[in-house]
Amino acid sequence: MDATVAQRNDALVQLLRDLVAIDSVNPYFPGGRGEAEIASYVADYCAGLGLPVRRQEILPGRPNVTAELIVPGATRTLLLDSHLDTVSLDQMGPAGLRPTIRDGVLTGRGACDTKASLAAMLTALTALARNPAGLGCNVLFLGSVDEEYLMRGAEAFARSGVHVDAAIVGEPTCLEIVVAHKGFVRWRLHTLGRAAHSSDPGLGDNAIYQMADLIRLLRAELDPRYRQRVHPLVGPATWSVGKIAGGSSVNIVPDSCTIEIDRRLLPGERSADALAEFDAVIAEICQRQPGLRVRREEPFADVAGLETPASAPIVRALEVACGTVRGEAKITGVPYGTNASKFAAAGITCVVFGPGDVARAHTADEFVPLDEVVAAAAIYEAAARAF
Ligand SMILES: [Zn+2]
Repeated sequence: MDATVAQRNDALVQLLRDLVAIDSVNPYFPGGRGEAEIASYVADYCAGLGLPVRRQEILPGRPNVTAELIVPGATRTLLLDSHLDTVSLDQMGPAGLRPTIRDGVLTGRGACDTKASLAAMLTALTALARNPAGLGCNVLFLGSVDEEYLMRGAEAFARSGVHVDAAIVGEPTCLEIVVAHKGFVRWRLHTLGRAAHSSDPGLGDNAIYQMADLIRLLRAELDPRYRQRVHPLVGPATWSVGKIAGGSSVNIVPDSCTIEIDRRLLPGERSADALAEFDAVIAEICQRQPGLRVRREEPFADVAGLETPASAPIVRALEVACGTVRGEAKITGVPYGTNASKFAAAGITCVVFGPGDVARAHTADEFVPLDEVVAAAAIYEAAARAF
């Protein structure tokens, strides 16, 4: 390895260490400090490259950061997006903010999701800013807030009307080119009963029992249907009950019970259709189960899936870049959702690509192999040059 490459790799590792050490837990998680500090760090970094930097406050104290490398004469713009927030520190504890390196692997909260992508994108931006010769497109970097909850940073950017031709969204994909992923729709469902003294429960109508029955009947009806609805790159449609709450006291028959449902949408599947199907199944169950009373709320989250043609120029550019840097390129799909849904909804052609394995994201043992981070930086740079 020549000295320049070694220096550049050292700088990248130091950058990743710095980013992981900054607490940027999404405030959706209790005690989360938000993206203010990391946004300042990233803005200062980009300003240091001599690029025009903008902060746009999306939520109080939570700005998106953009920096643009403008290439004279270029008519197209490539977006490099990486979210700034992480999930909670709970499982890792305070050690999650003290990155460690062992056997070529960096461990810490956000290591792979998605500060490795962030560090690699900033490193690519640095190389491009220092040597823009031959670059045929403008490169717009976006550090976005709130990906780990409602993706409001990406949504605000997509709605802002900024003209972008294609986007690479940085998430842990093991350096595979993700052209398809699922979306999701989430909502609350209530069963309604009648309260009574628990010493004579027959006088009441137990909403928790109603919910237990309802979940069992929904599973029997929906699970086989969804299992058969399979997309070749992302697998089957799914649903999952992630939260349940009911009753107020052990000595009162509960009059209400609530669940939260996470329905994963296949690319091209509309949330309205998924909800209509759900409603129809519930209506049919209620006919069979007289006395069951169910109320559905409107969704509190609704994000479409992603499907980008493999022939799109940004996919081809990443293929060329992966081939040059690693000698191989793989196109694939993943089940989890990303900011790409928000950009795609605004007509931007998107791919998801980054170092690390999503299986490590959100876990007590989040890490990223440093050789993948180094490769990712070279691939982002090469993809911009090939786009
Ligand atoms: Zn992520």
